[in-house]
Amino acid sequence: MKPTELVSFVTLSLLASRSFAFSSQSHDQSVFSADNGAAAEMDHKAYVEGLLAFHDHDPVAAMKVVDPVYGAMLDEPRLLEVFGQPRQWMTEGDKLRLKQEGLSFIDLTNFEVFEVDSAVAKEVKSWPDIHKQTKVNEAISLLNVDNLRKNLETLTSFYNRFYRSEYGVKSSRWIFDQVLEIVANAPPSTRLSVETFPHSFPQSSIIARFEPAGGRASSSSHQDVLPRIIIGAHQDSANYKFPMLPAPGADDDGSGTVTILEAFRTLVEAGFKPAAPVEFHWYAAEEGGLLGSQEVVKEYVALGKKVGAMVQFDMTGYVKPGTTPTVTLITTDVHPSLTNWTLSLAEEYCDSVVQGAKLFPGAGSDHMSWHRAGFAATAATEAEPFKDLNPYIHTADDRLDLEDGSFSFEHALEFSKLAVGFAVELGGWMD
Ligand SMILES: [Zn+2]
Repeated sequence: MKPTELVSFVTLSLLASRSFAFSSQSHDQSVFSADNGAAAEMDHKAYVEGLLAFHDHDPVAAMKVVDPVYGAMLDEPRLLEVFGQPRQWMTEGDKLRLKQEGLSFIDLTNFEVFEVDSAVAKEVKSWPDIHKQTKVNEAISLLNVDNLRKNLETLTSFYNRFYRSEYGVKSSRWIFDQVLEIVANAPPSTRLSVETFPHSFPQSSIIARFEPAGGRASSSSHQDVLPRIIIGAHQDSANYKFPMLPAPGADDDGSGTVTILEAFRTLVEAGFKPAAPVEFHWYAAEEGGLLGSQEVVKEYVALGKKVGAMVQFDMTGYVKPGTTPTVTLITTDVHPSLTNWTLSLAEEYCDSVVQGAKLFPGAGSDHMSWHRAGFAATAATEAEPFKDLNPYIHTADDRLDLEDGSFSFEHALEFSKLAVGFAVELGGWMD
């Protein structure tokens, strides 16, 4: 046995014994617990990297060892549409392989009914004149960049926010707790509801709602028919190399998550009393193929809930060195007139340069779940995706402490302003 063979033999033996330890413990999931501390996380990372290398970086083979429960699902057929390509039947394991190639997709397996209804999705709607400057600017003055920083520091401290991992469950719970704390400090006159939205996978989405001044959106009264205004972001993160590796997801989409959390906090503090229900959604499993948002859309459609407008915030904090910060509205796979209106809204309330830009094929976010079901949806992001994309996303380096200082909380705050404007101008504000 040559020295190199000896090394690999030792490594293999180690992997074999440790994978056994993993399998035997995976049922109580305590092995993934963040309570095990940083040392355990480093240990876990080294273990996963060794395992991947042993399996020639095939994520499917490695996942079958790391998580036998999920591993057993990897041969199941899934109907996938890699963005920009025709849909095709692949497998759950292929989703991990697509990610390694840097490709995003929508998993349509349980959502085939949602075809883009071009007539509805392109329907010209009239949007209100922007006229609530007093109320909006009052709320905007309460936004605090320190809250963005504090929240994102905690959110990125989770090992990852993979929607099938215990870390992803814990990070979801943490966001839920922040929402509850905001609600606990609400002025007595505000009408708020908070719910977790459990899914067919471990991570839950979270929904917080300003109830309309005239009643509750979930009651059986006429308020049921009031169209909701939805402001969304995705809470999960992904390391495209392998889902069980670290994924701080500072920009994608921790930034959007804290951006809308701060907009929500500000509106609560300001005593926001909308005429229509205004909801904040933190979606699970965007990275699994828009799974969380599609399950929410499916339930809303089944229950006959109406949606007036939806805006997604995906990546709000990165500014490529040497470029001018912009508030960018995506112009592809969105509702055209809502997008134009939201551009005007950004001109009114944001201090940055405002622009529209196409999203490149192979990318997408939760607004597309709404768009495909025929609702008016749009999406805001930090820069022109083709030119100035954050190069660190989907890796362990998607961090907020980038050495070149290209992560900017001031930039993210511009999007909190836009979220506040969207909520108030479309939801109304009853005196
Ligand atoms: Zn994203």
